[in-house]
Amino acid sequence: MLQLFYPLSKFIPYDCYQDVFSINYNKLYEDGKRIILLDIDNTLIPYDVILPTPEIKALVSELENIGFKIILISNNNYKRVSVFAEALGLPFVSNALKPFGRGYRKIIKMVKPKSNQEIIAVGDQLMTDVLGGNRFGIDVILVRPVKKKSEIWYTKLNRLNERQVLNGFKRRYPDVYQKIEGITK
Ligand SMILES: [Mg+2]
Repeated sequence: MLQLFYPLSKFIPYDCYQDVFSINYNKLYEDGKRIILLDIDNTLIPYDVILPTPEIKALVSELENIGFKIILISNNNYKRVSVFAEALGLPFVSNALKPFGRGYRKIIKMVKPKSNQEIIAVGDQLMTDVLGGNRFGIDVILVRPVKKKSEIWYTKLNRLNERQVLNGFKRRYPDVYQKIEGITK
């Protein structure tokens, strides 16, 4: 059995959606969110895709039109992240080491929010995106991974831990469990 170092409550997402396109961004803006942190791999595109699709480009313009500031936050390397970010004209943090603090601290320094509650993050992993945001008082929307097959070994390892978190949810937070199962089926 793998050991979790954080309480189960730190893995609870703010909300869950099938994909980045079905999120109600207007509602998030109404709720006071102003900065969106987007994970790249398996949130926006699969690991084996290099550049943003036209749909992603359109989404970014839509979010900027609503009034959001968007920052890409990825555990992937500088080369991968910078090529993708430049194609969208977005600021980014690569090698973010989610769920640890490096990337989040950098971003908070960069945007200086009045409160971390102004930030909403979007990602596909409980162990990195959700835990990482929650550790900093940042709400996180969980999306279904766009393509699991091309995941790299340490993501596969995270998925095993994720199974453990989901089993915990099943017992202690059945409503959260239902919600996540609803998007991963
Ligand atoms: Mg990801």
